[in-house]
Amino acid sequence: MQKFKTLLPVFIALALFILAQIYIVRQVWMQKDEVFSLRYRSVSKEYIQELASYDSYYGFKEAYFMLDELALLWLPKSRALLNPEDSAVYAKQIREYFTKYLTEDQLLSEYLSKYFDKLGLEKKIKPLIYVNYIELIDIQENIRVYKAPLSELKKQQSNTSILIHTFNSEENNYKISFDYYIDIANKEKIILREISLTLILSILSFIIISSIFIATMKSYMEEKRLSGLKTDFINNMTHELKTPLSTITVAGKTIKHDSVIGDKQKIIETANMIGKQSVHLNKLINLILEISMWERTQFQLDKKNIDVEELIKDIGDNFRNGCGKECNFIEEYDLNGAKADVDILYFTTMVNNLLNNAVKYSKNTPEVQLEARTDNNDIIIKVVDKGIGISRSDQKNIFDKFYRVSTGNIHQSKGLGLGLYYVKKIAESHGGSVGVSSKKGKGSVFIVSIPKTI
Ligand code: ADP
Repeated sequence: MQKFKTLLPVFIALALFILAQIYIVRQVWMQKDEVFSLRYRSVSKEYIQELASYDSYYGFKEAYFMLDELALLWLPKSRALLNPEDSAVYAKQIREYFTKYLTEDQLLSEYLSKYFDKLGLEKKIKPLIYVNYIELIDIQENIRVYKAPLSELKKQQSNTSILIHTFNSEENNYKISFDYYIDIANKEKIILREISLTLILSILSFIIISSIFIATMKSYMEEKRLSGLKTDFINNMTHELKTPLSTITVAGKTIKHDSVIGDKQKIIETANMIGKQSVHLNKLINLILEISMWERTQFQLDKKNIDVEELIKDIGDNFRNGCGKECNFIEEYDLNGAKADVDILYFTTMVNNLLNNAVKYSKNTPEVQLEARTDNNDIIIKVVDKGIGISRSDQKNIFDKFYRVSTGNIHQSKGLGLGLYYVKKIAESHGGSVGVSSKKGKGSVFIVSIPKTI
């Protein structure tokens, strides 16, 4: 939810950017469309003016002639109707006939097409006729039989077809006014080609901006996560430092107490305690120094080619002694004298970190298993426990510096979230790797592999 809130402004910004891009492309499209129509309209106008000088019918001669005959046939019927314009069916029929003849029996479209071709323009055009009104001419009076309704006129204006000319004609038996439009077959394609650069730039900028957004967001989230981990570390470290410090402070006060000043035994005990806590404090401070040193420099390993089984047995023995009867420890070694280039100190720290965690993160009596075997060119060290386990989502992060699995506000066990980070660093600096497989509540298996020399 928190993540979503942080990301929300980014999504809004991206959405606005997309909208702006769509708006720009749409505007460019509309402009191009207008320029396109204008070009065809002005060229057509030019041509029609030219045409007037040698064809006063503008290519409609045959259509007008046929319509004259048709009008004569319709006249009696029109006369019989009280107001033919009001008779929707009749008006529709007559308009359809007129439109059909005007569309099919004309030559203007052919002329225009040739003219366009000559100018290098698109020649595939389709004529569209919209009749504005038709009047049949009677001997006594003109009979208005059709008039385009207002809605129809509006539709024509917003049509994507290009209006070329409005023709008015009066023959023997009728009067007509109609609009001549053309549709350019490849209009969309042509415009799309013209705006392709704008379109490509717009898509490209969208891709770049969203990639930058994603990268920035990712690094921001990572920064946030790291700073959270660092804060946790400082809190944990402060807690760790405070414990010995407060013991020393209390011990210092105790020594000054009247009842203790004369008691040699008590003073020795208290001094011992101060000594022990000082050593612990010193260790912690050294650890901090070590961390910052490890951060600044690469691991300075002092590798020696050794028999790994001997070393691992030593580590196992020490662990068994330290753990005593408090844990159930099983060892299984099958290394057949395999050797590896190892820094004894770091290697020991690595295995100990894993063994200590196995105990630390087990409830009741810990059951810990230490295994070592060879596998092709590697030495495999396994630390198995039946402890609290690690969820899948945490498994991804446990090797990160300062990462501790969160158990609410307080951590049940002490730690700084560095043990596994060092395990990984040490394994890698030995040319190896570390992995984990675990199930929450069932236990964990940590596997370190390092290359063997023989
Ligand atoms: P620390 O033990 O100081 O917290 P580590 O780096 O050793 O730091 O471990 C990181 C986290 O991984 C621990 O906080 C713990 O939650 C989890 N973890 C490590 N080892 C085990 C284990 N054997 N079983 C369950 N959880 C473990």
